[in-house]
Amino acid sequence: MLQETQKQIERAYDGFSIDPVAKAILDEPQRVIQAAIPVRMDSGKTKVFTGYRVQYNNARGPYKGGIRFAPDVSMAEVKALSYLMALKCSVVDIPLGGGKGGVSVNTKELSKDELERLSRGYARAMAPFIGQDIDIPAPDMYTNGQIMAWMVDEYETIKGKKEPGVITGKPLALGGSKGRDWATARGAFFVMEAMIAKHGFGKRIAIQGFGNAGVHLARLCVTHGYHLKAVSDSSGALVGQDGEDLDLTMVEQLKHEFKSFAAVAKQTRSLKLISNSELFGLDVDILVPAALEKQITAANASTIKAQMIVEVANGPTTHDADLLLEKQGVLVVPDIIANAGGVIVSYLEWVQNRQGLAMTAEEVDTRLKQTITASLEGLEGPSMRVAALRKAISRIAEAICLRHASG
Ligand code: NAD
Repeated sequence: MLQETQKQIERAYDGFSIDPVAKAILDEPQRVIQAAIPVRMDSGKTKVFTGYRVQYNNARGPYKGGIRFAPDVSMAEVKALSYLMALKCSVVDIPLGGGKGGVSVNTKELSKDELERLSRGYARAMAPFIGQDIDIPAPDMYTNGQIMAWMVDEYETIKGKKEPGVITGKPLALGGSKGRDWATARGAFFVMEAMIAKHGFGKRIAIQGFGNAGVHLARLCVTHGYHLKAVSDSSGALVGQDGEDLDLTMVEQLKHEFKSFAAVAKQTRSLKLISNSELFGLDVDILVPAALEKQITAANASTIKAQMIVEVANGPTTHDADLLLEKQGVLVVPDIIANAGGVIVSYLEWVQNRQGLAMTAEEVDTRLKQTITASLEGLEGPSMRVAALRKAISRIAEAICLRHASG
């Protein structure tokens, strides 16, 4: 995925010139931090984990980005993701820079106490480098509100003061924001509505992935009269036996009961199981990859009949597929906009913490809608991704130039 992202960024730079000083600064992170984190395991032995934080660019505001706990976390991965965060915050025009963090660990092998000690250890290691005006972490893969709560507690204990704005994605009781759980899906939905209003696309939709983002998006679509034609998980995709719209309430109940869609299809005559690649070729108007990276490739792009792809997952489309889809006239709404709802609500959480007030769910929703919809303006051209990346890069470059102007 990192190579694909790199190719997409290179394509955005091709034929597009920015100030050479800004380019040189943007080519590398401003600061990389690697820390040894000793954790006392339940066995009594101490194990040393490696933690990373990359502060890519803060020309537009404090660094912002999640912390992931996953076995394959590496400095290279964290660097690339921190650059993407800088671009994402810039394209939706929130006053934050880009950062990312992680620990190389398989959380399934840790007890809850070990996980708490690792989270606190990470916060201790990074405490000198983060802060509400410096760098604001958040949850990412295999980290959650409880982990953010431990980290905020450790950080505030070290600093000897309250500073809830140092970390977002906290539980509500610790200053988290209303609407955070479904922010990504709501953001994607607002994007979809705006694009449908502009281009007149139909509302037959297929969603790959039935996790946090996919389920919330499916619910929103059904509530607003979309025709939900397919949803999938890692076992396959569910469609109506004769192509009819899915009954989402029933699908959710069955998924809860039988765990996988493959098992659901065996139990229910009105539903049929197809493969995830068949899902991409369905006769729908909107396709939403909301599961994994690199799902739409040169091998399956030509089967796509949808008029629009909304990238809720990070990096679901390869560079080669992008070029083919462009030729086919399929509009691809890039991930840095389509899934920016999460970071926008994180930003609103930070604003609330700094002001010591709490917005209502409606206020959060209104601001999310305004911010994400505004980011779509002026993104013309055969490739919306290239247009979005260029807009993001130019905004950061402008901030860099203002800071480093020689007179
Ligand atoms: P999740 O872990 O809750 O759900 C992932 C879903 O993908 C599950 O339904 C799983 O069964 C399905 N899946 C796994 N392998 C699959 C496969 N081979 N084919 C089809 N489906 C498969 O994750 P999530 O939070 O919903 O995130 C989904 C994607 O959206 C990820 O790429 C994530 O980075 C991106 N994203 C999520 C958020 C957020 O706030 N949740 C924010 C930004 C980006």
